[in-house]
Amino acid sequence: MATWSTMRVCWLVSKDRSCQRIKLPHLEMVVIGRGPDTEITDKKCSRQQVQLKADYNKGYVKVKQIGVNPTSIDLVDVGKNQETKLKPGQILHIVNKLYPYTVQFLEEMGTCAGRENKKLAEKSEKRPHSEPENKNVESLSGKQIKTDQVELQNYNLYNEVTDGSSVSSLESSSTKMECMPYWAQGLKVSMLNPDMQVYKDEQVVVIKDKYPKARYHWLVLPWKSISTLFAVTHEHLELLEHMHKVGETIIQQCLEKDSLHFRLGYHAIPSMSQLHLHVISQDFDSKWFKTKKHWNSFTTNYFLDSTDVIAVIKKKGKVTVDKNALLLLTLPLKCHMCEKQLPTIPQLKEHLKEHWPK
Ligand code: AMP
Ligand code: ZN
Repeated sequence: MATWSTMRVCWLVSKDRSCQRIKLPHLEMVVIGRGPDTEITDKKCSRQQVQLKADYNKGYVKVKQIGVNPTSIDLVDVGKNQETKLKPGQILHIVNKLYPYTVQFLEEMGTCAGRENKKLAEKSEKRPHSEPENKNVESLSGKQIKTDQVELQNYNLYNEVTDGSSVSSLESSSTKMECMPYWAQGLKVSMLNPDMQVYKDEQVVVIKDKYPKARYHWLVLPWKSISTLFAVTHEHLELLEHMHKVGETIIQQCLEKDSLHFRLGYHAIPSMSQLHLHVISQDFDSKWFKTKKHWNSFTTNYFLDSTDVIAVIKKKGKVTVDKNALLLLTLPLKCHMCEKQLPTIPQLKEHLKEHWPK
């Protein structure tokens, strides 16, 4: 069985120079300002401008302004000697609405820790510019989002281009999923929890999805640590086939197996770390199915059928996904059974009842 050695860590990341980040240890006071760690030379910024204390359990950083000139969070001044919470997603300006930073709580594994910058004595780190933070979001930028939506319906997610030009950056960012945030590591916790397990053997474990999007929704996960589909190669072929077989066996044990249809597959861009095969009934009768993103992730080409994935691995030895895959999640709502378009999720949910077994 794989042993997981993850370590929670908090980084203060410069928005101007994303290659620069400063480590904030749990409940340890870190003072920053003008100086080499931030590379701020502005005299308006005190050498001891802001005091920061990260709380890994609560998931925020307490920010105290020590300098005279204003430090702000989301453009609201903290006030001298005042304290405010800085949460992920918010922007901290060190002084005078300049030098923006954000905070990131990550669950890091061994390989990440090894990248720390010795020179800055584990306090701050420069990452190579070639390692962008979130390319996935980049692919949703203005111009691309206007892509013809009808065309997208038949969008082929598998990247057939071999010259590397469109072998997307998703591949490179996704193979670095050992650095995904701590909430994305939840499957690793669940798969080890006997209460969640419905089947296990030497190679895999099956758990119930914690937020099932249909009446029956399981996840098949290998014990072996495999971050995502992008890390899968020829050597995992047998494992993928086994995962598929186990998924089918689980379906056979389902009481409604004869009246419901099931699909087995992978999300093109998973949100959770550790390779997982979705086994999901096609009723989508669930209170957890709430959003367009949920719907499109299971009913468009964003959902990669397990058999297709196996075929691609057999042929090419790896799976790559086009960087525009995320656009599929923005497609209009369309019934997966009769193709009828529905304007809202409640209307789609109502419509789906027509397809449920009587
Ligand atoms: P994705 O990464 O998009 O392929 O999907 C991850 C799946 O994991 C979703 O269907 C979630 O509902 C499910 N999920 C999220 N957190 C947990 C958890 N802690 N335990 C079990 N399932 C989870
Ligand atoms: Zn329909």
